[in-house]
Amino acid sequence: MTWEFKLEPTAEQVSEIEHILDVCRNVWNFALRERKDWLDSRKSRVNACSLRQEFILPADTPFPNYHVQAKRLTAAKMEFPRLKTVNAQVLQQVLRKLETSWESWRLKRSGLPRFKKPKRMRSFVFPQMLKNGVSDEGIKLPQLGWVRVRWSREIPEIFQVKQARIVRKASGYFVMLSLQADVEIPAVAPHGHPVGIDVGLEYFLSTSDGEQVKRPRFFNELHRKLRWLQRRLKKKQKGSHNWLKLQKKIARVHQRIADTRKDWHFKLAHHLCDGAGMVFVEDLDFRIMAKGMLGQHTLDAGLGQFTNQILPWVCWKRDVFYGKVDARGTSQECPDCGAEVRKDLSTRIHHCHNCGSIKPRDVASGQVIAARGQRVVEMACGGDAAGAGVTQSSWHPLKQEIFGATQGISTHTR
Ligand SMILES: [Zn+2]
Repeated sequence: MTWEFKLEPTAEQVSEIEHILDVCRNVWNFALRERKDWLDSRKSRVNACSLRQEFILPADTPFPNYHVQAKRLTAAKMEFPRLKTVNAQVLQQVLRKLETSWESWRLKRSGLPRFKKPKRMRSFVFPQMLKNGVSDEGIKLPQLGWVRVRWSREIPEIFQVKQARIVRKASGYFVMLSLQADVEIPAVAPHGHPVGIDVGLEYFLSTSDGEQVKRPRFFNELHRKLRWLQRRLKKKQKGSHNWLKLQKKIARVHQRIADTRKDWHFKLAHHLCDGAGMVFVEDLDFRIMAKGMLGQHTLDAGLGQFTNQILPWVCWKRDVFYGKVDARGTSQECPDCGAEVRKDLSTRIHHCHNCGSIKPRDVASGQVIAARGQRVVEMACGGDAAGAGVTQSSWHPLKQEIFGATQGISTHTR
């Protein structure tokens, strides 16, 4: 689990944090350059070299992966004393992060990692905590010493703090603590009422129970404000005092959009868990979806973050089973009789030629998703889950200790 708290660093600690961020940025950019150079040197075929310029690295140069780069980092410290001013583990984590981003690009899950301009490095990690490093006052970190923390909630005793990520946001500095308990909480078993969820453009989501949730309006207002500020920014002289002030204002609006969205996502996830025993979503590749038919809108709404991170987390917390189902053709099937009902994106109503069922398109998809999910679960449980609604999963006592007695059943609706 990761919990976030606001830091109250002294002026000296702030400048130290900024210094660490900047050195991390240098390491990131250098290591990324190394990887890109290696890639460029392998790009052209031997008989097709460009006449003007070519990257030439010996053919047996190993790819600069994490281990190669970590070793070089240690060696580079002799030459660049600046590298020695930052905790070694923190810099290693930068290389590790780059490795993850690079791998995710190679597997086509995300774009190529980018070079970071000044101020664009926003966080770094202390992968190990100091002994007795947490007190009522704050937290003791390598290099920074005791930093005051606004403890907005208590960390239960069963948890150990494993690592601390320091994050700079428009609203100040924060610490994200990774908490770990050496106790295993069993996964939630499928039980109870199934809900299928279809995500889309017209509605943020539609459920198999017929509920359709629109995108909230407040995003439009915030986005309008953002555009207005950005237009004003263009008229200011770059780098001037007013430009910087406006820049900060814009960053704060971005932050507010992100915070508001997250808050709304959590409330919505809790709402979906009310009365549900199982929640099923489509297994969509949101990156492809964003590029293809649905355009940028999908990414804007943070759909992927909702269905892949927040919803499963809230489900787990609320003891609701979370499952993904095959997304193919969910909108082309009749939930009532199983017949194929072809419709393109502009057809908003499902009208079955076979059984005559009529309902909103997305609700029909939601019902297909719910049915598919149930079938998968039944197969996995050898038919035991057929009596859905009868079996009751009990709320694990450990979750009660972590989240408090009431939180698990609170509704969080607006
Ligand atoms: Zn039908």
